[in-house]
Amino acid sequence: MLSYRHSFHAGNHADVLKHTVESLILTALMEKEKPFLYLDTHAGAGRYLLSGEHAERTGEYLEGIGRIWQQPDVPELLKPYLSAVRNLNPHGTLKYYPGSPLIARFLLREEDKMELTELHSSDYPLLRTEFSKDARARVARGDGYQQLKAKLPPLSRRGLILIDPPYEMKSDYQDVVKGIQEGHKRFATGVFALWYPVVMRQQIKHMIKDLQATNIRNILQIELAVRPDSDQRGMTASGMIVINPPWKLKAQMEELLPWLHQKLVPAGTGHFSVTQIVPE
Ligand code: SAM
Repeated sequence: MLSYRHSFHAGNHADVLKHTVESLILTALMEKEKPFLYLDTHAGAGRYLLSGEHAERTGEYLEGIGRIWQQPDVPELLKPYLSAVRNLNPHGTLKYYPGSPLIARFLLREEDKMELTELHSSDYPLLRTEFSKDARARVARGDGYQQLKAKLPPLSRRGLILIDPPYEMKSDYQDVVKGIQEGHKRFATGVFALWYPVVMRQQIKHMIKDLQATNIRNILQIELAVRPDSDQRGMTASGMIVINPPWKLKAQMEELLPWLHQKLVPAGTGHFSVTQIVPE
C-alpha cells in the first residue's frame, strides 16, 4: 500500500515551495524566546541522496533546488532555507537534499523540540538513524494523523505542525481535513501547514471547501504552478495551506513568489498566488 518514496521527488519545485514556507514559519516562531514544538506528521527519510538511483531516475531536483541554490541574486528571505541546503553540501556540489525534518534540525534552537513520524518500513529507520544523536527529537514509526491527537497541545503551547502526506490514497484529501480539525480542537493557536499537490484541480477545490466548512479561522493559501491545470497525469502545481500564519508570511511570500516562479519556470508557464481564504 505504501509505495510512495519521497526520494524520487526530493528537491523538486514542490519541495522548494514547501521548505521555503516551513523555514519562514520557523524563523518567525524563533523571533520569540519561548521554545516551541515542531511536529512533522509525514516526515520522510530526512536526507535524500540526489546522485542516488531514485533522484537520478526522475531528475526532478534539477528543475527545483538545482535552479535556485546558487543564484547570485537570492532574496534575503530564502537564506534560512538555502543555508540548510548548503549545510548538507559544503563543497559546492549538490549531493544531498534536506527533507523537512532536516530543515527544522538546522534552524531550531537547543530548547525547541521535534516530534517526527514516518510510517514506511524503509524510510523510518533512515530517519531514526539521522536523529539518533539529537536530544531535541523524538522519532516514531506510526500514523501521522494519530499524532495530531496524541501530541497536541504541546507543553510549550507554541508550535508548527507540518502535514505532508503522499496523497497516494484518495482518502488523504479528506483525512488531512479531519486531522487538522482534531489538531485544531486541541491546539487552536498552533500554526498548521498543509502541503497539497495539484493533480486534479477538483480535488483541491473540494478539500478547501471542506476546510472552510470546519469554521477554523485565519487560513492562508500559497500556490506555485509550473504548468496550467490539466486533465493529464502528473502534478502541475503545489501549494501550502497555513492556519494561523505568522503575520509577515503573506507579504514575505508575495515578495518571494515572483522570483521563485521566474527561476523555477524559465518558460513562464503556470502561475503563483497568495490568498487569505478564511479571514482572522
Ligand atoms: N515531509 C517530508 C519532507 O518534506 O521532506 C516528505 C514527506 S513525503 C511527501 C510523505 C511521507 O509520508 C512518505 O515518506 C510516506 O512514507 C509517509 N507516510 C505515508 N502514509 C503515512 C502515514 N499514515 N503516517 C505517517 N507517514 C506516512
